Amino acid sequence: MRPPVNHDHCTVLLHYGELALKGRNKHRFIRQLLLNLRDNFPANDIAKIERLEGRAMVKFSRPWDDELHTRLQCVYGFADYSPAHVCAPTLDALKSTACDVASKLSYESMRVTARRGVKKFPYDSMEIQRVVGSALMDLRPVPVKMKHADLNVRIEVMEDRAFVFAEKIKAAGGLPVGSSGRVLALLSGGIDSPVAAARMQRRGCQVVFLHFHSQPYQSSAGRDKAMALAQHLARYQVHTKIILAPLGDLQREIITHCPHKLVVVLYRRFMFRIAERLAKQNRCKALITGESLGQVASQTLTNIQTINEAISLPVLRPLIGFDKLEIINQAIQLGTYDTSIQPDQDCCQLFMPTSPETHASIDEIMEAESALNIKVLCDDVIKRTELLSVEACW
Ligand code: ATP
Ligand code: MG
Repeated sequence: MRPPVNHDHCTVLLHYGELALKGRNKHRFIRQLLLNLRDNFPANDIAKIERLEGRAMVKFSRPWDDELHTRLQCVYGFADYSPAHVCAPTLDALKSTACDVASKLSYESMRVTARRGVKKFPYDSMEIQRVVGSALMDLRPVPVKMKHADLNVRIEVMEDRAFVFAEKIKAAGGLPVGSSGRVLALLSGGIDSPVAAARMQRRGCQVVFLHFHSQPYQSSAGRDKAMALAQHLARYQVHTKIILAPLGDLQREIITHCPHKLVVVLYRRFMFRIAERLAKQNRCKALITGESLGQVASQTLTNIQTINEAISLPVLRPLIGFDKLEIINQAIQLGTYDTSIQPDQDCCQLFMPTSPETHASIDEIMEAESALNIKVLCDDVIKRTELLSVEACW
């Protein structure tokens, strides 16, 4: 049985995940992480953030509640966090604080786990565990269990203070957003692309979103969904932007001048060309898509290669090896699934042939494209793009 959450605390101790393994660059990552932490809360919520050895401490100026929890879950770079009591680094203070923590919880077995952040403290971890454990036994005599104890009182002793806490909450993991540079994510209103963008945020990328729409040839439903998805993903980064690009007229040119079975590959080559130019304008070093091998006609290896040849910027496809069901589970966990399954019309479906080519060769595509003025068509779309700021929706 897990002990219930103690809602009194407003000091939270956060432990770094993968960052703890970083070498000389560690400081840069941690600085970014703590900036992101501050930016993810309204200005008055945080009284203080302190960088401690191997961990960070944040003091909130409000009580612990679900909103703090939700916002902390949106800061990539922490392995776990714990609402903690702070006390003086003395055995007496540890004993009374531990008893204070335990007295508010119900448990039928317990253990104490102590760590010293500084070796100067005159008692080693075993000694701290023994002394605090026996104080807890005096409070309530229950069996001590090394594995699966109901209550695990954790103690971390630093130079000028100690932390006592009973809960360790799994955080979002990953690397701090911004530490890996900027990327441009092609965001449809579908299930896959928001998951792909989130995976890259989790690897430390600041994501700029790009959505192609075919208004006025189609309704605004796809565009509205893309906006809603971007608002959700904006929880994980600051200063989110989305570019909306009108593709309908270009699609009409393609369908008028090129073989119908090739239009899907042609659409996508143009989407990539436009995306590459917008990526460069926005200092993005790669494109991100939600493609998964073999999922639809445009995602066969041949078509992926033929589409890729239109540009030179790297295209990252974080979902390439996942099954649809695995992607759906990730979307549910991320919280984007319900929006993604709302009905819409994606621009790729406009003037869609009944049997699109699954193995378009570069030669037949080049021949088809010779009927088009590629630069003028791309310029026209780019000229009519809209750039919008996206506010995170909580
Ligand atoms: P999704 O669920 O992400 O829409 P999908 O399986 O429907 O993916 P496609 O429609 O072939 O696959 O799209 C593949 C990828 O191309 C998407 O994951 C996304 O990155 C990009 N894409 C598709 N449509 C758009 C769009 N309208 N605007 C921007 N990017 C798009
Ligand atoms: Mg789609």
